[in-house]
Amino acid sequence: MITLTFLGTGGIKPTPERNVPSIAIKIGKEVILFDCGEGTLRQLEISGISPMKISKIFITHFHGDHYIGLLSLIQTMNLWDRKEPLEIYGPPGAVTFVKNLLRTGYFLPTFKIIINEVWEGDVIKNKEYKVVPFEVSHGVPALGYVFKERDKRGNFDLEKIKRLGLSPGPWMKELEKRGKIEISGIEIRLEDVTGPKKRGAKIVYTGDTEPITLGDLCKDCDMLIHEATYISPEDRGESYHSTIGEACNSFVESRCKVLALFHRGPRYKYSEYKIAAKKICPQAYVPRDFDRILAGNGNVIFEVR
Ligand SMILES: [Zn+2]
Ligand SMILES: [Zn+2]
Repeated sequence: MITLTFLGTGGIKPTPERNVPSIAIKIGKEVILFDCGEGTLRQLEISGISPMKISKIFITHFHGDHYIGLLSLIQTMNLWDRKEPLEIYGPPGAVTFVKNLLRTGYFLPTFKIIINEVWEGDVIKNKEYKVVPFEVSHGVPALGYVFKERDKRGNFDLEKIKRLGLSPGPWMKELEKRGKIEISGIEIRLEDVTGPKKRGAKIVYTGDTEPITLGDLCKDCDMLIHEATYISPEDRGESYHSTIGEACNSFVESRCKVLALFHRGPRYKYSEYKIAAKKICPQAYVPRDFDRILAGNGNVIFEVR
């Protein structure tokens, strides 16, 4: 189970009702950020998420509304005497852009900052989750990211255990460790005595992009967070962004459970945008800053403000 917090849902520039892009995913004790627009530090403060818990930051691309917030966030970590390293991931150019940003003012980080340039084909993973970047189309090197929590085994099933003529005991720990064991000459596999697997949460975040075909990697996710900067193609003009209708098409093709319309243009008031979204794509969800979602094991639970 993960907790996802929308820290900033607007695009291009902040408005009185929403900040520029940032999404926090809490998994276990770790917090991962996707994008870090200006003012993300304040959004974290309001959300009650400690910057010290952030282990990795994934930047989709180097337009200011997606990464300028790194500076104040890292300076605050420094001020609070952070010791743990911080990993930053982004498309090619990340090392130069982030290093330049960190050279601003009288400030030298006292903890290790590891900057990694990634691209489609890379996989960043640990025991609990993996993050896979995919290329999007935005006029500059730009990535979307798939976040996938690891699937977990089902609970031990007493009925299944009884049917095999067994009773609960220390063998269960051994089985959990090894995957299969032999008891009285009979091979027992973990799946013989446990319920269905618990599917880890899968979240897809496109970052900024004009309409693209989302690959198999993005299919069947719990939540597709798709940019939909504009209500109509007329509003969009020639820019490398998507409309509500285009995000909706990608959502239908990708067979994801929930569509969250993200990076809404500053020209639209929330209510105006939401009314348009309901007409164009009735199944879409229009998140507001600080909305929280719990996801995992096939469920998506909304904790909307
Ligand atoms: Zn943007
Ligand atoms: Zn952009």
